[in-house]
Amino acid sequence: ETLDKGLEKTKQSVFSKLARAVAGKSKVDDDVLDNLEEVLITSDVGVDTTIKIIDRIQERVARDKYVSTSELNGILRSTIADLLTENNSGDTSNWDLPSDHKPYVILVVGVNGVGKTTTIGKLAYQFKKAGKKVYLGAADTFRAAAVEQIQIWGDRVGVPVVKQQMGSDPASVAFDTLQSAKANDADVVLIDTAGRLHNKVGLMNELKKIKDVMKKVVPTAPDEVLLVLDGSTGQNAFEQAKQFAAVTQISSLAITKLDGTAKGGVVIGISDQLKVPVKYIGLGEGMEDLQLFNRNEFVDSLFK
Ligand code: GDP
Repeated sequence: ETLDKGLEKTKQSVFSKLARAVAGKSKVDDDVLDNLEEVLITSDVGVDTTIKIIDRIQERVARDKYVSTSELNGILRSTIADLLTENNSGDTSNWDLPSDHKPYVILVVGVNGVGKTTTIGKLAYQFKKAGKKVYLGAADTFRAAAVEQIQIWGDRVGVPVVKQQMGSDPASVAFDTLQSAKANDADVVLIDTAGRLHNKVGLMNELKKIKDVMKKVVPTAPDEVLLVLDGSTGQNAFEQAKQFAAVTQISSLAITKLDGTAKGGVVIGISDQLKVPVKYIGLGEGMEDLQLFNRNEFVDSLFK
């Protein structure tokens, strides 16, 4: 329900474009496919993924000889669902964590403004609600506002935030956070980091140092490197994702601000091209507005 409402704009945009693409046509022909290609590209699915989708539909059309335009929706839906299935390693259906060790450590990366702090707050809320002991680490020491923001979320959710002065070594904050978390038998730790993409070598070294230092306390850390992307920026989010992937190994994605944007198609392209699973989606500013990504629900919601 929240998902349906959140994806409303994307849905409207895709469907109105789709309707125009098939207007006056009874069967899917090259003309319809050309128009569909344009619909997908302008819906932020991205060029490469769009071509992949069109190729598959073309194969189907060639095989079945006659495909009516009224069937196009269903074919498109199943093609996209297949694509998401191929490139996602499996949806997570609950907030459980691996039980073989703790704390489970999530290193959160992403540029400023994408909703990184908000996502950390929302995750903390969900994990806490699921009965887990949560610790937050304010390792974005570059901006005073970042430390304040994460503290606000920590207070709101009621979980401890480990921090140091602004400008201190992020790796040292991460180390402190893991030590406190371990000493207090925490289940999950979320570490905020500064995402300064304009200084790639600096960012690469910083993240490497944080990871190395964390292993001294928790050998399995980080269990997850979560990249947060702003879905409302469409193809820019995709570019950012590629740049981050070049700097450090990304294991999961959170795509925020899918409410209020018509660019939700970006989720399809990013997960296809990056081969990293979308794990969480942001559908609003509130504490509860984060969902575990479920590809079937997502596609259903888009094509309902
Ligand atoms: P950060 O700089 O990456 O840490 O970004 P923030 O977490 O401070 O978020 C930037 C702005 O985006 C804030 O105004 C948030 O309330 C807003 N925001 C974050 N996630 C979402 C979302 O899923 N939907 C909407 N509508 N706004 C969001």
